[in-house]
Amino acid sequence: MSARDDRRIAAARQRLVDLLAEDEVILPGGLIERMTRCGKPNCRCNGDPPQLHGPYAQWGYSRGRERITRRLSAEQTERYRPAIERGRKFTELLVELDELELRRVEHAEGWGT
Ligand SMILES: [Zn+2]
Repeated sequence: MSARDDRRIAAARQRLVDLLAEDEVILPGGLIERMTRCGKPNCRCNGDPPQLHGPYAQWGYSRGRERITRRLSAEQTERYRPAIERGRKFTELLVELDELELRRVEHAEGWGT
């Protein structure tokens, strides 16, 4: 384990602390934009070529094995976007910390290559 790795771990931990110290909502999952069909037989979304409806914002997250999606209004999208973005950063930081800490312990115990 190098001093450089120690600094990277300290920096990643500090970014996590800073994120939590913002004391703002952190939500899991991600935002996507989807085009949809409404199901009405004579609608343009069933035409040739089909002209789909949307785009609509959709928030998706996992709860255990279940994948949950929620359609968001424009107002909800803007209201929740920062929290979902913080959640993405939070997850990235945890993954980065896992990787750094695993490297450290693998090296310290002589297990890894
Ligand atoms: Zn339609």
